[in-house]
Amino acid sequence: MVKTGDVISYYQMCALEGMSMRRGMSFRPRRRTSVLLMSVRPGAPYHDQVQDGGRTLIYEGHDNPVPSNGKRPKEVDQEARSADGKLTQNGLFYEAAQAYREGRCPAEVVRVYEKIKTGIWVYDGHYELVDAWTQPSGGRQVFKFRLRLLDDLESPESSRVTLDSTRVIPSQVKLDVWKRDGGKCVVCGSNDNLHFDHIIPYSRGGTSLDTKNIQILCARHNLRKRDKIE
Ligand SMILES: [Zn+2]
Repeated sequence: MVKTGDVISYYQMCALEGMSMRRGMSFRPRRRTSVLLMSVRPGAPYHDQVQDGGRTLIYEGHDNPVPSNGKRPKEVDQEARSADGKLTQNGLFYEAAQAYREGRCPAEVVRVYEKIKTGIWVYDGHYELVDAWTQPSGGRQVFKFRLRLLDDLESPESSRVTLDSTRVIPSQVKLDVWKRDGGKCVVCGSNDNLHFDHIIPYSRGGTSLDTKNIQILCARHNLRKRDKIE
């Protein structure tokens, strides 16, 4: 089972989702939980933002796959419907956010993965989609989606409770720690089954916002450390 903060390869992510993750937005793929892939790296194709220490994401919609008029994807508005009238991924997520805002259904639950380097992803956890709108960006209209962190859905008694600690590690902190630790477990140098570990656990007041409190551990050393603490 993947945990928030786990570092996984692209192929592991595809295996977890049971499909090839070719697109960044997947609304209820095969009736499963919706998935969004994000990136805040310099040069990322979309302007995603992490706010409130990781509790809020502002996710940018994705460009239409085939621009109709010979223009480049970044030159045309992002559309809610494709030429044949079907809802695009932007449209599907937008409609779900509207339905939630109008009280017609509960918030859409979304699993979020974040790219930190080519082929290297971090599982950021479950979020709920609470708002969506369009806004101008570079001379055209883009979609924006607001997502709010949910507690782990794996544990039913604590589900649908928003965290008040900053457990999710902001992207820049992840990038800095990854660079500092060389993408390896700081104990044994393994580069398999890695996890961003809070040196002082967040449950004991450890911060996610300071690189000094975050390190990379492999699954083995992560478990060993937890046994010691608990
Ligand atoms: Zn290790």
